[in-house]
Amino acid sequence: MKHESLRWNPGTQEWYCARCGRSSGCVDEPEAQLQLEKYECSLPSVEGQSGAPGTETMRLIRKPYKMKLRTERSGVRFQAAQAENGDSAIQLELFHDTVSALKPYTLSFEVLRGTTTTQIKSLLELMNERIVGVIVTAKEK
Ligand SMILES: [Zn+2]
Repeated sequence: MKHESLRWNPGTQEWYCARCGRSSGCVDEPEAQLQLEKYECSLPSVEGQSGAPGTETMRLIRKPYKMKLRTERSGVRFQAAQAENGDSAIQLELFHDTVSALKPYTLSFEVLRGTTTTQIKSLLELMNERIVGVIVTAKEK
């Protein structure tokens, strides 16, 4: 038996090892013991380097710290516009200057040819009613 000090955590409703802190995810004690038996009873900090089972979990937990994704948001409104060739388009209008990536650009959406003015109007109404903002996140390099 690797984990000898199993305790019940009423908060998460599962058994956990008081020594290494690993939680079982089980309500049933013998089952929890069995579940935990797959892992060594070692402190989480050492475990990551040992390559023992459970390493995957550690990696997943650490990941968010590595990726520092910058997200910028702005409220938006859509309006009818015309593309260079005279075709109908829908232009994205940003309420705030908070999205630096989009600052030098005007973003428009090309509308399917043959779309009537009435269709564009109802499309705009729906978009403006339901789409409230734009979220721009830099991709991980
Ligand atoms: Zn343990």
